[in-house]
Amino acid sequence: MNLEQENKRLQGTVKLLLRRIEQNHSIQQHFHTFEFKLLACQCLRDLLNLLLIEAQRHFNLSAVSLVIIDSDYSIRELMDQLDLTDYGSCLQMRNGVDFLATLYPQQHEVTLGDMDVLTAGRIFPGAGRVVSSACMPLVRQDKLVGSLHFASDSTERFQPDMATDFLSHLASIVSLCLENCIGREHLSRQGKVDMLTQVNNRRSFEAELERELERAQRNQEPLSCMFVDVDHFKQINDQFGHQAGDLVLKHLAYEVSLQLRKTDFLARYGGEEFVVLAPRCPQTNAERLAERIRAAIEKMAIDVCGSKKVRPTVSVGLATWCPKQQGRCDLQLVGHGLLAAADEVMYQAKRGGRNRVLSQRYELLESAASSSGLSGASAKASQ
Ligand code: GH3
Ligand code: MG
Ligand code: MG
Repeated sequence: MNLEQENKRLQGTVKLLLRRIEQNHSIQQHFHTFEFKLLACQCLRDLLNLLLIEAQRHFNLSAVSLVIIDSDYSIRELMDQLDLTDYGSCLQMRNGVDFLATLYPQQHEVTLGDMDVLTAGRIFPGAGRVVSSACMPLVRQDKLVGSLHFASDSTERFQPDMATDFLSHLASIVSLCLENCIGREHLSRQGKVDMLTQVNNRRSFEAELERELERAQRNQEPLSCMFVDVDHFKQINDQFGHQAGDLVLKHLAYEVSLQLRKTDFLARYGGEEFVVLAPRCPQTNAERLAERIRAAIEKMAIDVCGSKKVRPTVSVGLATWCPKQQGRCDLQLVGHGLLAAADEVMYQAKRGGRNRVLSQRYELLESAASSSGLSGASAKASQ
């Protein structure tokens, strides 16, 4: 080979290398764009939408799937509460890592190549034929926390001898973002939920009341509010101990939650007192709901201290506000008045012998609306 030929050959090699560098650079840019989007996700829904819906288009894939390890069901519970149940089979929650063992037999490293039909059926359920795939382990603190999978209908797309740097980098960003978003959602929930009973706390009730009052006024819909107070709860504590009392509160809150519609809002208002907000619920329907709650609790027999059973009862006070058609009123006043009205009848129910429901219609009096005083006295009771 003479010098000229050698020169040409070298030029060809350099061109080829340059093209590869350019290609790699463009692929890297593509990955970076996606990773920036991942890092910008503020909530779990955004992150899952990006991973399970947008990634398919962004990386031109035939399917994407994600497995999350959730040994104590805490992530599933969180997703239920956030209503994140619409990803179908492309999102799988698993109790342990066994499900992923065959994907990463030796180490937690990205695996590329074809996939046998059985594995493809497990990893990409319902996705049809998987010609080539990339499986990316999601690892945090040396522990496998999940796995992300890309499928392609091209044999060339993911081959075992290909470099995996970009995919490994992507997997580490996904692991981090997943941990971050889940942690953030847990924290935000902790701020809204009562730790003992796992129902909403008083702070989130107050925010919800404000939203529902607005909505009721805007749509001219009735809003019902009820206080559910455990009868003689002090005696339960005194007789069975504080821990047994705690257990009763937990069971009771759960039982109340079972009686509600999806749009109703249950919160622990304080000690042994719960509050239920029932939007778009006229007084008669709310009375039925309150009676259902009372009756369901009356049937309970809660096991405490081994063989002993506690049979709690509750008194329920209910007030309903039907916004008037003409004009807007001070919703802060209405909120205070509605709660005071529900509280008032709850105490009447106590005085009347407990284990009963009492209700009243709440109306904001003209005089109260124009004054600045906030009190239950501004409620016109019509039982
Ligand atoms: P009533 O029928 O009039 O409502 O009587 P009651 O005994 O239920 O009401 P009271 O207000 O006299 O007592 C409420 C008790 O609830 C007193 C308090 O120690 C107890 N309590 C409040 N919070 C908790 C809690 O988180 N756990 C337990 N175990 N007890 C609590
Ligand atoms: Mg009580
Ligand atoms: Mg009380």
